[in-house]
Amino acid sequence: MLTNNATGTPRPMSTPPRPQPQGGPPRTPNPWIGVRFLCAGQYIRVYRRPESPFYLARCPKCAKCVRFRVGKGGSDARMFDVSC
Ligand SMILES: [Zn+2]
Repeated sequence: MLTNNATGTPRPMSTPPRPQPQGGPPRTPNPWIGVRFLCAGQYIRVYRRPESPFYLARCPKCAKCVRFRVGKGGSDARMFDVSC
């Protein structure tokens, strides 16, 4: 489940150049997402384990864990703001 904060204005961020992994799984176009924790004021990049159906991001300040599910019909966004 993707958390969309109604108060947080999503900012358009340029998509960083994506390295083309050779032999990587073609079904996972998003091997990572960017998550910005507002309470910590830190932006982290979250990678997903191949066996995990979701990204698990943890706030470096309050240690709150936020899951970002991966699936069809989900958001195409790769940058998220999390207020915790
Ligand atoms: Zn936090």
